[in-house]
Amino acid sequence: MSAPSSCLSCAQNAEEPPRRPEHWIASDDHWRVSHAIGAAVAGWLVLVPRRHVVTIADLTDEEAASLGTWQIRLSRALHTVTGCAKTYVAQFAELAGFEHVHFHVVPRAAGLPHHFQGPRVFRLLGKPDQPSVTPAEVTRISAALHSYLHSPLPPATS
Ligand SMILES: [Zn+2]
Repeated sequence: MSAPSSCLSCAQNAEEPPRRPEHWIASDDHWRVSHAIGAAVAGWLVLVPRRHVVTIADLTDEEAASLGTWQIRLSRALHTVTGCAKTYVAQFAELAGFEHVHFHVVPRAAGLPHHFQGPRVFRLLGKPDQPSVTPAEVTRISAALHSYLHSPLPPATS
């Protein structure tokens, strides 16, 4: 499928170099990691394929092969950088203009109120009635995640 000009993920995929560091926290040949827009949670990440795909079933075997690794790498990075208790992973791609497949990887803080836990965490994304993270904080945490993800891998623990 060709990329529609209205697709934000494709526009960010085409940025060379990225317009903002939080648009391109990390990547490989198949995936790019950015910070979510309008999130009230610092470190709310979005993992997007480097080509326009609107359903998970259309991901290639090569894209699928690194998907799980990315989800775990990003979760480990979020634990280290944000001190979260766990991470949530979700994929819907339903909003107009956001049909490009994107996996949300959300740091869930230990103290997150119960009414924001589980799927209700999406009350903290793109909602004008919730204070979003400041641009400076998005830039700061994106840089910290970038540094973590580009550091040499720590030795495996057993
Ligand atoms: Zn796209």
